[in-house]
Amino acid sequence: MKPEKSLFELSCPGRRAWSLPELDVPAVDPAAVFGSNMVRADNRLPELSEIDIIRHFTRLSTLNHHVDKGFYPLGSCTMKYNPKVNELTCRLPGFTSLHPYGPETLIQGALQLMFELGEFLKEITGFDAVTLQPAAGAHGELTGIMMVRRYFEKKGENRNLVLVPDSAHGTNPASVVLSGFQAVQIKSTDQGLIDPQELMRTCNNSVACLMVTNPNTLGLFESEIKRICEIMHEQGALVYLDGANLNAYLGIHRPADAGFDLMHINLHKTFSTPHGGGGPGAGPVAVKKHLEPFLPRPVIVKGENGYRLEYDRPDSIGRVLGSLGQFLVLVRAYTYIRMLGADGLKRVAECAVLNANYIRRELEGIYELPYARRSLHEVVFSGNNLKQHGVRTLDVAKRLLDFGLHAPTVYFPLIVPEALMIEPTETESKESLDEFVQAMKQIAEEARTQPEILHNAPHSTPVRRLDEARASRLLDVNYQE
Ligand SMILES: *Cc1c(COP(=O)(O)O)cnc(C)c1O
Repeated sequence: MKPEKSLFELSCPGRRAWSLPELDVPAVDPAAVFGSNMVRADNRLPELSEIDIIRHFTRLSTLNHHVDKGFYPLGSCTMKYNPKVNELTCRLPGFTSLHPYGPETLIQGALQLMFELGEFLKEITGFDAVTLQPAAGAHGELTGIMMVRRYFEKKGENRNLVLVPDSAHGTNPASVVLSGFQAVQIKSTDQGLIDPQELMRTCNNSVACLMVTNPNTLGLFESEIKRICEIMHEQGALVYLDGANLNAYLGIHRPADAGFDLMHINLHKTFSTPHGGGGPGAGPVAVKKHLEPFLPRPVIVKGENGYRLEYDRPDSIGRVLGSLGQFLVLVRAYTYIRMLGADGLKRVAECAVLNANYIRRELEGIYELPYARRSLHEVVFSGNNLKQHGVRTLDVAKRLLDFGLHAPTVYFPLIVPEALMIEPTETESKESLDEFVQAMKQIAEEARTQPEILHNAPHSTPVRRLDEARASRLLDVNYQE
């Protein structure tokens, strides 16, 4: 495959993508009208026909691997398949042409959608109240921990520590520190879980909260979660759930029942919004009754005469977003939930877990499995056993590209050396899982017999192995050492 030239390189003087009638009014000099300082000195622009432009962008769109093109084992965390019906509804002019500060009377439909979405999220998670304002999971964490802070201030308790397990996503300790707390790391057991004994030793009346990801980033369900919540509550502390992995138990388990006090939900992950490249997202926070007064304001309430925004909330932490939420992400989540219904959502979780465990069983013994328990929606292997052949996990990831497959998450979670975190998600068929398994088996075989193939992979992509540190700063992707 040859590298794609830029529009400037493709430019051919005099070529046009438009045809306009002859000018029938006197031509004016832009400098005379707007002033010469308003006219670009260098006004060279690419000159191309319409078909040149369309072909250029179509070729570019196929160079990168993406979930609409093939298997993408980065899972719901990065991008699960986003049903196209979501895109239909969020493009309805009634939604796209709304003004974010429109008066309540003119945005009743939008308020109703947000209110009902909040009700769905409460039912799915079991919590009592919800805010849709946060614009991402990390933003939800920050919002949640700020509410925890306000809760203890209101009680007149001075607690400055938040416990975070070593398997947590990096955003957890970051949110803790940004909210003015100090993060204390909790070591996982050999089983990859939180150790209740360790918690009992660590938790005291300086601890405000424990942040748990469940199932954790190893794809393992914290089987002692009820006990863990009890231990924290006995010390007067709260328990926060990082809900990024909600895809694993939609409709099967309600976190509020396990004892959590609050959680965030990554709508763009579990409830499907395309969000590659950093946006857009939505990270609603759901809370139990005792945290409701601290929710960001305004809160959407349903009254006799329709929906309204309630600002009079004296204990609120205030606004966390300029608007009421990332509205079109909320529309997509609402559509996804309404399309699937309760049974459909449950099936999402069942199939996501089934698919991950299928891959676990198929690749067990071929790649190292440091935590050999039944996993939930994702499974974490280690490429440690390939090291003897001089092959690293990075080589496996690069070689997968030659099979037309995307690489899984690598080198995370940090507690697994040479980690390969595979999350196939619910939408993949047995055929596509088998294709992935077959490629992974062949790669393990190549590691043993022809490791040099792996060291030089990928072989079939438009650009080969890039200097990663440099490629992230150098815009010319055709650059080669
Ligand atoms: C994705 C993720 C986050 C952060 O969420 P963003 O929406 O990307 O800000 C936090 N924790 C876990 C476990 C995640 O997977």
